[in-house]
Amino acid sequence: MEAAPGPEAPVTNPYAAAQRQFDRAADHLGLERGLRDILRAPQREVSVRFPVRLDDGSTRVFEGYRVQHNMSRGPAKGGVRFHPATDLDEVRALAMWMTWKCALVGVPFGGAKGGVACDPGSLSRGELEALTRRFTTELQGVIGPDVDIPAPDVGTNAQVMAWMMDTLSMHRGMLLPAVVTGKPLAVGGSEGRSDATGQGILDTVEFAAARIGMRLEGARVAVQGFGNVGEAAARLLDARGARIIAVTDVRGGARNADGMDPVLLREHLLATGSVAGAAGTAPISNEELLALDCDILVLAALEGQVTSRNAGRVRARIMAEGANGPTTPDADPILREHGVVVIPDILCNAGGVAVSYFEWVQNREAFPWSAEEVNARLGRMMTTAATEVWDRAERDGIDMRLAAHAIAVERVARATLVRGLYP
Ligand code: NAD
Repeated sequence: MEAAPGPEAPVTNPYAAAQRQFDRAADHLGLERGLRDILRAPQREVSVRFPVRLDDGSTRVFEGYRVQHNMSRGPAKGGVRFHPATDLDEVRALAMWMTWKCALVGVPFGGAKGGVACDPGSLSRGELEALTRRFTTELQGVIGPDVDIPAPDVGTNAQVMAWMMDTLSMHRGMLLPAVVTGKPLAVGGSEGRSDATGQGILDTVEFAAARIGMRLEGARVAVQGFGNVGEAAARLLDARGARIIAVTDVRGGARNADGMDPVLLREHLLATGSVAGAAGTAPISNEELLALDCDILVLAALEGQVTSRNAGRVRARIMAEGANGPTTPDADPILREHGVVVIPDILCNAGGVAVSYFEWVQNREAFPWSAEEVNARLGRMMTTAATEVWDRAERDGIDMRLAAHAIAVERVARATLVRGLYP
């Protein structure tokens, strides 16, 4: 007798995953062949190899990338990642997701991403600054306020953005604050930017919870990843009355069914380098966290965490994709079958690029907005996008990921068509 077909093998390459998601949307929309070919792969890819002098006097060569997936709707926009596993395919996928994300929330940008294969934790501050400045110099021909605007991502932060801005400004002989977003407030950063991705996660989780009749007060939350995104999401969900019952990072995890204070977790992380071992908590592994009995699972680490191998064990009712590409395409049908409401990445974590856009506008106008104004505009943008995705999913009888991609691909396709081909 033939064995029953098991779950599909995980799609471990993020670019293959991003293209698979695009294909689903293109099929759903009945997109014609020429448009598919334009949108299915990046418009421009830059690879650089550059030397950096280390503190011990030696020289090390690093590899870096900037990929601009699509610029039909505006200048390219996307983060810069410093991580040992960063490679061209990862950056391609992340650039493609940025295109869809901007289109979905109505930000007039295209999609890009950049990265350097390095371990920022093993570099001194001086080495990190030298690496950042040299990488920026290598990219000076392809980034700029009207062309491509980088932002922080995994392994980078506001300080790295300040160095990027300063480097490009020195080269051009004028201050160019709008060349990067996610800068420190002292050099043109926006109120609300550092919490923006977490705030957008909260907004979309609130939206989904309301639609399925779940109360956030007392809801049990597990968070994978406790960096820029995971820490803010945990703190804001906790402030909204939810209970943070488990958190993991790359080194380990902490759990307490009664709830943990994210502020204390962060203090422990700053003192020790991990949330693991925080006072009053028990250890938990990543695999255990993904399978934990909870109401809301926030993914805020890296790609490819929920796959066909572990998707069947997810017990959360809402899975919020704070990270980009945390779920492989083969896991989606399993999650659907189990009734997990997945808030897809291009919607869930779009708060970051939304406030990046606000920062760029403030820089261009040389007129800063108040925190209240930033958050009010962000809330409206996230709620509008979430409503559109939810309604499209219901109307077409599809899941939220396909609905989000369909809306976004449709918008980019329309812009491409209306602009026409040159020459
Ligand atoms: P970060 O470097 O600040 O934090 C990443 C966190 O994930 C750290 O706590 C790290 O320890 C943890 N981590 C790494 N590998 C892990 C693993 N295997 N298991 C468990 N934890 C692991 O990065 P970030 O800026 O918070 O980005 C996280 C995710 O969110 C990425 O997918 C990124 O692309 C996405 N994102 C970031 C922003 C932003 O504004 N920074 C915006 C949108 C999306």
